[in-house]
Amino acid sequence: MANIKQISGVGKGDEAMLADTAILTRLDKAVGWARKFSIFPYPFATACCAMEYMVLSTTPYDIDRFGALLPRFTPRQADLLMVVGTVTVRQGPILRRVYDQMAEPKWVMAFGACASTGGFYDNYSTLPGIDRIIPVDVYVPGCPPRPEGVLDGLMALQRKIQSQKQKLIDRRDETVVVS
Ligand code: SF4
Repeated sequence: MANIKQISGVGKGDEAMLADTAILTRLDKAVGWARKFSIFPYPFATACCAMEYMVLSTTPYDIDRFGALLPRFTPRQADLLMVVGTVTVRQGPILRRVYDQMAEPKWVMAFGACASTGGFYDNYSTLPGIDRIIPVDVYVPGCPPRPEGVLDGLMALQRKIQSQKQKLIDRRDETVVVS
């Protein structure tokens, strides 16, 4: 949140009057703050990394502290596509369709070595990284990644969400970029 002193056009008298009663900020900062703490993940879970995904909601890690607990099993209600596990070449078009069905704004996490690079698989059937199919915002290394590593990746994504330009849709379905 921006400090009142950082807002141009607010005089000292106004500042004194508002100090205890209001918080001033920019709209895109407030929208970014709300978005980064209300993430709805879609777990595209295909393999053993899914066990680590489940651990994220348990007591020691508690991903709900970051506002990202509730998974959505339809892409139309999700804004974070978590690709969890090995993806084969034949699954590529399915992954792309799931991504395309998600509304903007949306983000992608490559969860583990297989999703990030294909992992230790060196064969014709395994996709050597999901970024061959869809754009990726954050890569989480490890086979499988530790839950702490996933939370670290999630916090990196939150910083990215907060810092990017926020897109708002008006009633005429026109994209308005607030900067
Ligand atoms: S990165 Fe390791 S644990 Fe995760 S899906 Fe691949 S082989 Fe399994």
